[in-house]
Amino acid sequence: GLRSLKLSAVAKDYNVASTLPNHIRVLQWNILSQTLGQSNDGFVRCPEEALTWENRKFLIVQEILQFNPDIICLQEVDHFKFLQTILGTQNYDGIFFPKPDSPCLYIEENNGPDGCAIFYKRDKFELKNFDTRILEVWRVQSNQVAIVVNLAVKSSGKEFCVCTTHLKARHGSLLSKLRNEQGRDLLQFVKQFAGDLPVLICGDFNAEPTEPVYATVLGGKLMNLSSAYADIKTERDECNNDSGNELKASKELDSDADVQTTEEDETDGEQVCDDKVLKSIQREPPYTTWKIREDGEECHTIDYVFYTPEQFKVRNCLEFPRDDEVGKNRTPSFQYPSDHFSLVCDFEILDKK
Ligand code: NDP
Ligand code: CA
Repeated sequence: GLRSLKLSAVAKDYNVASTLPNHIRVLQWNILSQTLGQSNDGFVRCPEEALTWENRKFLIVQEILQFNPDIICLQEVDHFKFLQTILGTQNYDGIFFPKPDSPCLYIEENNGPDGCAIFYKRDKFELKNFDTRILEVWRVQSNQVAIVVNLAVKSSGKEFCVCTTHLKARHGSLLSKLRNEQGRDLLQFVKQFAGDLPVLICGDFNAEPTEPVYATVLGGKLMNLSSAYADIKTERDECNNDSGNELKASKELDSDADVQTTEEDETDGEQVCDDKVLKSIQREPPYTTWKIREDGEECHTIDYVFYTPEQFKVRNCLEFPRDDEVGKNRTPSFQYPSDHFSLVCDFEILDKK
């Protein structure tokens, strides 16, 4: 049940990549909270046995370690101590920040609150600094959090920042507005912490690329950010002159698609931004989460790895399983321990011009 790594035309040096000092492999994954997955989500097509911690914990560790990531960004972590212990034996240190009022705590047999976590290889990086944030919406704290770390590559001294977050779930225009506000708060928080250092922002944004928060991140005035999976697809298409048997067909964007951009935003350079956002939307993968609940099937692209393109180059991204690999009952399953797939990206820190 392991996902294979496939080389893209732009990254034949894939396997050596992560051993080079300024090459960084990042894994982004909502691992599915044990408590929520077992008692709250209602995954009606997943066998109960597959949802037990005894079954899931090995699959989660295997999924993470098989890719040998330098940095691991996780959401819905409610077994941090377990991960810290196991990953601790594999050269990783980690930081955990729980949600202030985690829904896990309202379920009888819980293992504590869920939250975000970041792990990094302790022999490759020095932790210079970190900060945590309860994201604010209209200046009021919400129940969503973020962690940001400032790491230095030990062998080169190069510094950069990595942030992880998990935005508010559920559908609806009010909630998509709320996510947009959380996104704004997140960018402000990261910018204040990172200054002009290279930045990676990984997370479960709970928002399709057509939601306002996506345009807010990509069109941000504070930081120039791009989406890794969208950009690697562009590079592959340009290299191969072959549009898309690598990732599944890109999202079709009708000319009248309801791309919700942020209304009250400044108009400076709006045209440029809209082009950038529209192109990126079309190049996102077809799904990052795929599950069946009582009320039906949910297949969405809501997890992202954003980066500052002037300071990083995306070298490669892990492909998602095809629908026949996912299986008819979708996820979670005995094969896939979470309802989200992991995103794995190789970056190179660029030299300052
Ligand atoms: P969110 O709305 O952000 O969602 C919490 C979790 O629920 C997420 O991890 C999310 O996963 C998951 N989720 C999303 N859609 C569904 C669905 N259709 N069915 C089941 N689970 C889903 O939560 P908040 O942190 O803002 O907390 C609010 C929630 O906490 C409430 O919805 C409530 O259930 C619970 N709560 C309960 C209280 C009580 O007294 N019982 C009191 C306070 C809170 P993903 O991000 O992967 O989609
Ligand atoms: Ca979830």
